[in-house]
Amino acid sequence: MNKTALLFLLLFALILPSTGHSWEVKSRYATLHYNTKRILNDFNDQIRLGRKLNYLARKKNILTTEDEVLAKIDIIIEKAEVVLDMFPDDLHIHIVLLKNAGEVNRIYKQKYGKKANNIAYYSLAEDTIYISVKNAKLRVLAHEIGHAIVDHYFEVRPPYNIHELLAQFTEKHITD
Ligand SMILES: [Zn+2]
Repeated sequence: MNKTALLFLLLFALILPSTGHSWEVKSRYATLHYNTKRILNDFNDQIRLGRKLNYLARKKNILTTEDEVLAKIDIIIEKAEVVLDMFPDDLHIHIVLLKNAGEVNRIYKQKYGKKANNIAYYSLAEDTIYISVKNAKLRVLAHEIGHAIVDHYFEVRPPYNIHELLAQFTEKHITD
């Protein structure tokens, strides 16, 4: 490593903690955003795949927690597509990890000016899932991914109740 590179590294190390920088990593189907390694680790612990999905995860090349989380997300998305029998082209969504439901609802309020009481939600406009890591579970994530897939699949957005029904269907059958 040359001196300039080293200097940049040092600068980054100094700046990052103070700016609340958000990390961003990409898998085939998703870009994951998170603020701290702690949140990423907690999310990884919370999202437990069932036996069948776990088998798929073990076949992937996993070295870091990031790898593991991204592998899980892609496996869940692929399974959700199978459950729904919907395979939209070029599906790519964003997932933002937040500490708790309070943060999820603070962001919701900022964007929509309305109070809500969600542990996670999918923003159709932003193609983004906001999720409370504290409440994150396979089924919760699968539900929101269901919304994302449904949203990408139909050219005309189905009515709200149908959207919700399909998300619930995904949630229910994700471990089959
Ligand atoms: Zn829903």
